[in-house]
Amino acid sequence: MRKGAISRDGVFKALTEYDELGQDGFLSKYGYKPATGYFLLHEERTYDSKAIAGVAHKFDQGRALKPDELSGGRSHAARWLARLGFTIRSSRSPDWTRDEIILACDLAMANGWKRLEFDDPRVIELSALLQAMPIHPEELRNELFRNPNGVARKTVDITCRHPDYRGKPTNGNVLDVEVMNDFLARPTEMAKVALRIRQGLVAGEFQELSPEAEEEDDFSAPEGRLLLGRHRSRERNKALRKRKIDAVVGEGRQLACESCGFDFEQIYGDRGRGYIECHHVVPLHEAGEGRTRLSDLALICANCHRMIHRRAPWPTPGELRASIEQKHADDRRAAAVLARPRRAADEQMPNL
Ligand SMILES: [Zn+2]
Ligand SMILES: [Zn+2]
Repeated sequence: MRKGAISRDGVFKALTEYDELGQDGFLSKYGYKPATGYFLLHEERTYDSKAIAGVAHKFDQGRALKPDELSGGRSHAARWLARLGFTIRSSRSPDWTRDEIILACDLAMANGWKRLEFDDPRVIELSALLQAMPIHPEELRNELFRNPNGVARKTVDITCRHPDYRGKPTNGNVLDVEVMNDFLARPTEMAKVALRIRQGLVAGEFQELSPEAEEEDDFSAPEGRLLLGRHRSRERNKALRKRKIDAVVGEGRQLACESCGFDFEQIYGDRGRGYIECHHVVPLHEAGEGRTRLSDLALICANCHRMIHRRAPWPTPGELRASIEQKHADDRRAAAVLARPRRAADEQMPNL
């Protein structure tokens, strides 16, 4: 759902219809299942928040949203309703994000991949840290949010998926296993990632991240959203980009993509003059809070930039250039191969 798609007025109309049809009637009319996570509180009654948001869309935009059109996570229905000023009650804690699981895995690894108890000082410390994280909006938390019990339980979910664990695993989620596998494959690097996230949280440097920056869903974030957001905000820093561009132009070099050679001015004329994006080439977990040097930035066109961030691990601009060249070479070879047998086949095939 895009910003502004539903209004308070639309929500009130949905609430009225809900009251008229009753919960069952309302949910079945629009194909929603009863909510398990978030509820809207209005005049001492509770409503299924996702269904309400989806139906409010009908009053505002002419069409109710189907359940699968409302995404989970940060941009979910409950958050939209909270932004419109409605009271949301959550019956369970929001799902753990990659950033949070990274910190929990780091703790589990430091403990030899053994579970930790809720009264362990390290668990209590992590609980406080997670509660201070800016990932989950306050309005979607309940009083149990990331308490020491929940954190301890997470270490159970993680450690019982470890390859050495002998016993029946709990119902953890796929993300736990994914992040743990990252730790098993690259323990030193992932420990550094965890350390950077911790340092950033303590220094309060993630607070400035805009929710819009977090919502770039097609950007891979193996190191978590917080470090990615930090990375992106540096890349979008206008003053920094201008300095980089001025330096390159000052050296008499062409303002072209370091991966594919695209030159915005060459294609778009005046409108493209002086335009290029910057990509920060230092890995997220290596880039500390020190000043960004111009040599940390690569000039890159918008397409190549997207392609770099699309999947982890991110290629360097040089690696991306090599893969573009490889693709060209493969295409030329394939075209040459295709050209040959087609002629031979043409001679043998009777006319149809
Ligand atoms: Zn390019
Ligand atoms: Zn980038």
